[in-house]
Amino acid sequence: MLFKDVMVDDSIKESLINLVKSNRVSHAQLFLCSPGNHSFALAVAYAQYLSCQNRGEHDSCGVCPSCLKFEKLSHPDFHLIFPNVAKNSNDKDYNSKKWLPEFREYVFENNYHISLNSWLKELGGENKQATINIRDCGNIVEQNSIRAYEGGYKIYLLWMVERLYHAAAPKLLKTLEEPENKTLFILMTENPDNILSTIKSRTQYIKIPPLSETTIAQHLQQELEVSEETARDIASISEGNYVKALTFAHDNKEQEEMLHYFECFFNGVLANDGKRPLNQVKFFEVRAVIEKIGKLGRESQKNFVQYMGRMLRNILLINTNNEALVKATHEERDLLNFYKTRVTVFNAKPLMEECNKAHYHIERNGNTSLIMTDMFLKMSTILAS
Ligand SMILES: [Zn+2]
Repeated sequence: MLFKDVMVDDSIKESLINLVKSNRVSHAQLFLCSPGNHSFALAVAYAQYLSCQNRGEHDSCGVCPSCLKFEKLSHPDFHLIFPNVAKNSNDKDYNSKKWLPEFREYVFENNYHISLNSWLKELGGENKQATINIRDCGNIVEQNSIRAYEGGYKIYLLWMVERLYHAAAPKLLKTLEEPENKTLFILMTENPDNILSTIKSRTQYIKIPPLSETTIAQHLQQELEVSEETARDIASISEGNYVKALTFAHDNKEQEEMLHYFECFFNGVLANDGKRPLNQVKFFEVRAVIEKIGKLGRESQKNFVQYMGRMLRNILLINTNNEALVKATHEERDLLNFYKTRVTVFNAKPLMEECNKAHYHIERNGNTSLIMTDMFLKMSTILAS
């Protein structure tokens, strides 16, 4: 991976390049990543640059033997460690090495735009408790006692280190504390709060922010040949996450459904002011939407309440003349404008709280139908008062 093909700000690339040029590479660095921001590609480009035999001012050469091995993620001194599970019920000594061929293929297929969720699916199911386990840590310690095969840096990339099994951490700590010469640990995380403080305190932080809307829109146009308007629409609702943007671009059916569900649900909430009968509230339509949402998976159910929260926030922004801050597609904007007087600085907070509460209960496997009906009634009361 060359720096030129990594989709992050040039300033971040430059700061890593300068660390290498000025010989200030700290032996353990923690990459604080935002979801979907091409940070894995950045980490590989950095490792490749450090190992390149013919480094340029701004990038690796791309053609030396070391670079060619990096292109295949098969450099013998570059070790990939990532969350993994047993391959089958007899597999007792599973670790990252066993999954390496699948992991490489997954990375290449997705152009280095990888996420924990999609990797868990590759492993065979979202709910699998994948970890970086004690055997992975053992392999690192063992590897660390051997000389680098090619005489350069030994580099360990621990992707999603928040999944490090806590009981395995002590094995790693000593190695992190007293590394061999020319050893680099790149730890990557999206949830630094879930990392042991003993690990964090041994690392230098590198923050990699979410991608800008402009960057996302430009890449969508280049890679998928979508129109400028569509690219901007998608970028605006992707929260700096290119993986999310790609999902929206490939399949906007879920987005369309969310918009439709929101419209139906919120119309009901607004009509249910306590002064008219339920048939005028179209409560049966609301019930039908609740039922449909109940049949979706937990992730999609959570997506819906998050979507609702985003829509309400957008309505408030329009109502308070902060249109520039609105994150919405053109289609959504039309509907948001229609509702623009309904969400105010007085009712926005309690309305959002209902969304947060629903999200909390869905996450804990509550009954979706009850949760959504409760949210409907509470929101009606808030808006009618
Ligand atoms: Zn090279």
